[in-house]
Amino acid sequence: MLAKQILVRAVCLNDAVTKQTFTVDARLADHAQTTFLGRTGTISTPHGQIKTPAFIPVGTLATVKAVLPESMGDLGAQALLSNAYHLYLQPGPEVVDEAGGLGEFMNWSGPTFTDSGGFQVLSLGVGFKKILAMDSTTVRSDEVIAPGKDRMAHVDDDGVTFKSHIDGSMHRFTPEISMQVQHQLGADIIFAFDECTTLMNTRDYQERSLERTFAWAKRCVTEHERLTLERSHRPYQELWGVVQGAQYEDLRRLAARQMASLGFDGFGIGGALEKDALGTIVNWVCEELPENKPRHLLGIGDPIDFFIAVEAGADTFDCVAPSRMARNGTVLHPDGRFHITNAPYKRDFGPIDDECDCYTCLNYTRAYLHHLFKAHERLSATLTTIHNERFIVRLMDRIRASIPAGEFFEFKAEFMGRFTADKNRNTSHDAIASE
Ligand SMILES: [Zn+2]
Repeated sequence: MLAKQILVRAVCLNDAVTKQTFTVDARLADHAQTTFLGRTGTISTPHGQIKTPAFIPVGTLATVKAVLPESMGDLGAQALLSNAYHLYLQPGPEVVDEAGGLGEFMNWSGPTFTDSGGFQVLSLGVGFKKILAMDSTTVRSDEVIAPGKDRMAHVDDDGVTFKSHIDGSMHRFTPEISMQVQHQLGADIIFAFDECTTLMNTRDYQERSLERTFAWAKRCVTEHERLTLERSHRPYQELWGVVQGAQYEDLRRLAARQMASLGFDGFGIGGALEKDALGTIVNWVCEELPENKPRHLLGIGDPIDFFIAVEAGADTFDCVAPSRMARNGTVLHPDGRFHITNAPYKRDFGPIDDECDCYTCLNYTRAYLHHLFKAHERLSATLTTIHNERFIVRLMDRIRASIPAGEFFEFKAEFMGRFTADKNRNTSHDAIASE
């Protein structure tokens, strides 16, 4: 009887499982008083507030690799994002649940996010990393996979069957399972399970995929409601819907309106985004989404992209790039990123960035970091990750401050002018993103 009632009721999150948790604080305008979709705001969670725009560092397996959670707090991270797919495989969501949820498990007292697992399951499925899957706008194929890779995931209308990247065992994610896993993980903000396509997919496939993602979103809403009521002893979790639609304006706008109709607490913007079209696509989506809900741009971590996406209306961001680059010895600097292992730094006794206030820049030299990398010492990753994460978090702090001060566009021009000036120093976007 209960099941029947759920089926006949219109699918939309009801008041029992939604809370108004986001406030807009200031709107972006230029000197001619032209207004933009960009804004500053505050997201309130049971584990504290997030001032937006904000960068959310990624701790895939409930750890930002090589760095203490306390250090992430010290460098100004407001929240951390972990991956449901990885934690489902290892250690298993029931372990995190027993620990009291993701934040308790990793000794992080601030807000937490988990993604739905959709992106990892499907990107592993075609054997591509994110950017490689998007490097072609001419080839169209729904069957393409990376050279030499086996297809590790199969999508059907009910869910995705995939092979573990750890031991090859077979698993299945459905919208319901993704919700159950994310409720056990217990992050403050969780995402609906979606199908992540690539730019290589045909238009026809993108349309069918969008229908599938909308159907899955409704199933996520229903399961999330059930779990929220069943687990009312646990802190409130927000569910955010994910807007797909690749590079097509009509599909992106349709997806945004569909997601908005389901009453989500916030929204993710996901899927294939070419760098040149990033601002345009975020703008289409944000024009359709309700103003009083936060918008998260999934998997974007390039400093230049932050300015473009904030201007277009994005509030929060996550990306593994700052920490992954750091472990490879690539450090961020206002004049562009550079490799600390390059010869000139062997006897450079200044900090990575003399304008940076991070623990690494206050205490360690380029020469020491160069030595640590050359000697394959683990401390190298710790120190460079602290710097790169601080660089991005501080950049976002400055972007946030520039909006109410009426200085966003001046700051954007100044930062982008310096960061992109030395082409020889900056590695290309593609090279960085695929590191
Ligand atoms: Zn620094």
